[in-house]
Amino acid sequence: MTKKNHFDALIIGAGPAGATAAYMLATSGFKVAVIEKRKFPRFKLCGGLLTQKTIGLLKDIFNTNVGDLKSGGVIQYQSNFYGIGDHNGNYLQRRLDFPFHFVDRAIYDACWLDKAVKAGAKVIFKESAENVDIATGEIITRTGNRFSSRYIIAADGVFSRVRSILSQRDLLKRRHRQDIAAALEIFIPRDKIRGLPNYPAIFYGYIPWGYAWSFPGPKSQIFGLCSLKAKAKQSLFKGLNTFIQAQGVRPENLAKPKGYALPYGNFLSKAGYKNILLVGDAGGFADPLLGEGIYYAHKSAQMAVDAVKHSWGHPQKAEAIYSQLLNKDVTAELKYAKMIRQFLFSLPTRWQLKVLGFSFKQISHKLEEAVQGQRSFKLLLPKSRI
Ligand SMILES: Cc1cc2nc3c(=O)[nH]c(=O)nc-3n(C[C@H](O)[C@H](O)[C@H](O)COP(=O)(O)OP(=O)(O)OC[C@H]3O[C@@H](n4cnc5c(N)ncnc54)[C@H](O)[C@@H]3O)c2cc1C
Repeated sequence: MTKKNHFDALIIGAGPAGATAAYMLATSGFKVAVIEKRKFPRFKLCGGLLTQKTIGLLKDIFNTNVGDLKSGGVIQYQSNFYGIGDHNGNYLQRRLDFPFHFVDRAIYDACWLDKAVKAGAKVIFKESAENVDIATGEIITRTGNRFSSRYIIAADGVFSRVRSILSQRDLLKRRHRQDIAAALEIFIPRDKIRGLPNYPAIFYGYIPWGYAWSFPGPKSQIFGLCSLKAKAKQSLFKGLNTFIQAQGVRPENLAKPKGYALPYGNFLSKAGYKNILLVGDAGGFADPLLGEGIYYAHKSAQMAVDAVKHSWGHPQKAEAIYSQLLNKDVTAELKYAKMIRQFLFSLPTRWQLKVLGFSFKQISHKLEEAVQGQRSFKLLLPKSRI
């Protein structure tokens, strides 16, 4: 192997998790490379909704704010309202204390990767990590290239190759694919639809163990639906069609839906092996109730970088440090969100909708604060008291 293929840290995947790790490490003077199987900018199926906690985190990590992101064309839309409803026509509209912001993931992801490159990270596009040689710390790509590094940060998304390899070798918990949700989205140009609310709304009752959403954007409205794969037992396509038509969209306006997956409760308590750390969707770090993953991608990557810095003389200790950081701030929260999800979706639909209706009438402000990041999903207590 030539010396140019040896790095302090090798990051697999250039989504928000990978770009954050690359940016933070490169800024601190580490020699970093990112291996990304596609070419950027690339399309990523997503609703693109950013919560308040994400905006705060972007300030901490990238020293940026909503004004900068709007003027740079990264934030394209914002909404001070949201709606929540069900398939029986029950519906509640609420005003938010802090708006939701919306991004186009092609632009959003390219923005952070660009910052990582400017900070000194090297990006190798169109190389797919195929195998990990754990003994030598090497990544072997599909084209046969080998890259070695002191640390490997796997940010390779929900179908993480690195996670699969570690699981196959019994170095990580197996059967992680059970807690994955399948998702569909359709983008409909706004000039083809009239009269839809210009704020995001989510709806229950169209699919078991999941929900549907209608998100606005500057050019198109996004309709989506997701459900826990192992439990759905109903066609997602049918659920999405019924949902869209219930929103008053005529079938002739429907494009073909695109499908992808998102982590839905398969987060790891032990998030790697020695000097190999799994971040973002690769580690299952997305909210198992509402599917929010962008915040957790940035947050877990930030923690992985802390673990790298704190284990520099002893890279084999990185995973233990990383998992400890995660368990305190991220995994604990995801566990509570998963408990709520399990309770809610185990109820018969009629009861589910009653519980949701009651919760949103009685404690909607606390729920909003939990989503935005001021409260924990643990009994909806303020974060300061956890
Ligand atoms: C339909 C849908 C809607 C969603 N809506 C929202 C939302 O509104 N708000 C929100 O917060 N979250 C949302 N999410 C979740 C969010 O998209 C993810 O949690 C987030 O993208 C995770 O970022 P990441 O960097 O971990 O992974 P990704 O963004 O998936 O990036 C992984 C990168 O790794 C690359 N890669 C994969 N394998 C390899 C390999 N072997 N070698 C090299 N490169 C590789 C990929 O090409 C990709 O660029 C949604 C997800 C879906 C599916």
